[in-house]
Amino acid sequence: MTAVAGPGVGATPRGSRLAGNYAPLPVTLAWASGAWARDVDGRAYIDMLAGYSSLNFGHRHPALVAAARDQLDRLTLSSRAFGHDLLEPFADALAHLAAPAVRGGAPLVLPMNTGAEAVETAIKAARKWGYDVRGIAPEQATIIVADGNFHGRTTTIVSFSTDAEARDGFGPFTPGFRVVPYGDADALREAVDETTVAVLLEPIQGEQGVVVPPVDYLPAVRALCDEADVLFIADEIQSGLGRTGATFACELWGVQPDLMTLGKALGGGIVPVSALVGREDVIEVLSPGTHGSTFGGNPMACAVGLAVIELLGSGEPQARARSLGAHLHSRLATMATAGLIERSRGVGLWAGIDVDPAHLTGRELCERLLARGVLAKDTHGSTIRLAPPLTIGSDDLDLALDPLSQALC
Ligand SMILES: *Cc1c(COP(=O)(O)O)cnc(C)c1O
Repeated sequence: MTAVAGPGVGATPRGSRLAGNYAPLPVTLAWASGAWARDVDGRAYIDMLAGYSSLNFGHRHPALVAAARDQLDRLTLSSRAFGHDLLEPFADALAHLAAPAVRGGAPLVLPMNTGAEAVETAIKAARKWGYDVRGIAPEQATIIVADGNFHGRTTTIVSFSTDAEARDGFGPFTPGFRVVPYGDADALREAVDETTVAVLLEPIQGEQGVVVPPVDYLPAVRALCDEADVLFIADEIQSGLGRTGATFACELWGVQPDLMTLGKALGGGIVPVSALVGREDVIEVLSPGTHGSTFGGNPMACAVGLAVIELLGSGEPQARARSLGAHLHSRLATMATAGLIERSRGVGLWAGIDVDPAHLTGRELCERLLARGVLAKDTHGSTIRLAPPLTIGSDDLDLALDPLSQALC
């Protein structure tokens, strides 16, 4: 028997052996394909969350499943104690995909598994580069981050979270981070000093509700980092790999970060795959023994990652994100004009909507959507995020947006 939490139930249901660190919506999925999922009772849903953008290519994309299946029959794990035949091809392909988007061309690729690990890797690389190359005094390196950030859940990463729920009770915290308001280049300029090694930002803040910064912000960040010889690290774990209509969100502003963290969709919704990608002269400070991961760059990850990179190489997912995104944003604008939502924002096939908290919470809206066959998830309070697979059909997108307007009435 399965215990299922009722609407609004946050804690572990009575009898469940599952830790209560999530409050999922009351649905138990058993099958999915493309943009559609089914629950254990066979009810169908359109997936408008897509695993927080891990499923950019939909559930069980045939090319990704085939790559994983083939690899299962050959080699699944080598550990980095030995090489394997897909590790260099994966690094080459990802470097090639990212080369136009990062500083210095010909980037290095350091494979990890989860997003948080890629961010931790970026932090370690930036600090070591600060000491080894910039000559920062020992233990003094600082990294500037933005309020409202989401970069993962490790103790170091929550040290610089501004979300009380994510942070409170988990100290003592890792020092060496300064938090400035997101979108404010002047505040950033004031925070930079001789100890600053890096600025770590999401080009668009996904978890915060798809917050797009002012148009001159990222170019100003880039210029500031250049002036001060500080690394610009873009966390593209959620914004990257097609979601915004560009391969990487920073490209929307013509800004090249020094380092990029990638994750989520890089694993095609099949396996966790993440990576730090960027300037060779920075990433090469991580010499043998200084950093690693048992599973990072494993054969299954590389097989699926290569297939993901091939899908993106066609430009097709990015084009769909642009055209379907235009439709999504125009429908949301109509809902805002009709007073159904307070406002919406976003870019590509990615939107945050704010509803009137006096009318209903984001959670209540997601429960109403669930009852109408649409999977979506609230983020802070009265905000919900829409991020369907980029492979969704335009008719299916409308099938998800019609119930949204109904659920808001
Ligand atoms: C999801 C996310 C992470 C963390 O990824 P995990 O795989 O959950 O560790 C980091 N940064 C951003 C921007 C994310 O959206």
